[in-house]
Amino acid sequence: MKKLILIVPILIAVLLACQPANEKKNADISNQEVSESQDMNLTANDLDEAMYAFNDLPYKADALEPFIDAKIMQLHYDKHHKGYYKKFLAAIDGTSANGLSPEQIFANVSNYSAATRNNAGGYYNHWMFWTNLTPESTEMTDKLKAALLEDFGSVDNFKQSFSTAAKSHFGSGWAWLIVLPGNHLAVVSTPNQDNPLMNVVPEQGIPILTIDVWEHAYYLQYENRRAEYVDNFWKIVDWSAVSERYEMALDGYVYNP
Ligand code: MN
Repeated sequence: MKKLILIVPILIAVLLACQPANEKKNADISNQEVSESQDMNLTANDLDEAMYAFNDLPYKADALEPFIDAKIMQLHYDKHHKGYYKKFLAAIDGTSANGLSPEQIFANVSNYSAATRNNAGGYYNHWMFWTNLTPESTEMTDKLKAALLEDFGSVDNFKQSFSTAAKSHFGSGWAWLIVLPGNHLAVVSTPNQDNPLMNVVPEQGIPILTIDVWEHAYYLQYENRRAEYVDNFWKIVDWSAVSERYEMALDGYVYNP
């Protein structure tokens, strides 16, 4: 009994001492929430189109002929890519995804709607694709070449591995060269508009090269000959861009359009 008499006042004293601190903490969190939600409203109403640009193609629509003809390029960019862009803006409008970079959305994409996942992917993946193609003749850096040798045995082995992933991917999707955590390189493919930055794919990494293997990317020109489209892809790869992305990835940075 004596012990209880001693303990009760101590408990009361402890509770009293804690209470103001807890109240203060709760007040801080609640202020933070208010200010975050105010920022979010601003973002949702005013900033989305400014934040998420729809850039021009980095070359003319016929620049990659004869490997990708102008008609496909125009349709692919003006209709398909722009369609994803518009649906992406609509999907994130008024949600907590608005104001986040595509990279931030992908890192938690499982928390967002299917429309956000599909259209954020479609918006971002096509920029990766356009900007890793060029009509110019380019070369990879020695550093990228050395990394490909280390992880695939040779540049040709790498190309074969990537081509096989692109040719054999079932249905719509993408093949990728990615930089894994720890800086090794790997080839992966993803379905639909998923990409290796998303927290839903089996192997996450930073993408540095991609090919679109949706039928809309080649069917008008190549019909069912996806393999021929993939083989021609190598004639228009921008190795300077891929090398630059590789350097960025080694520093932990993701390419953003
Ligand atoms: Mn496409």
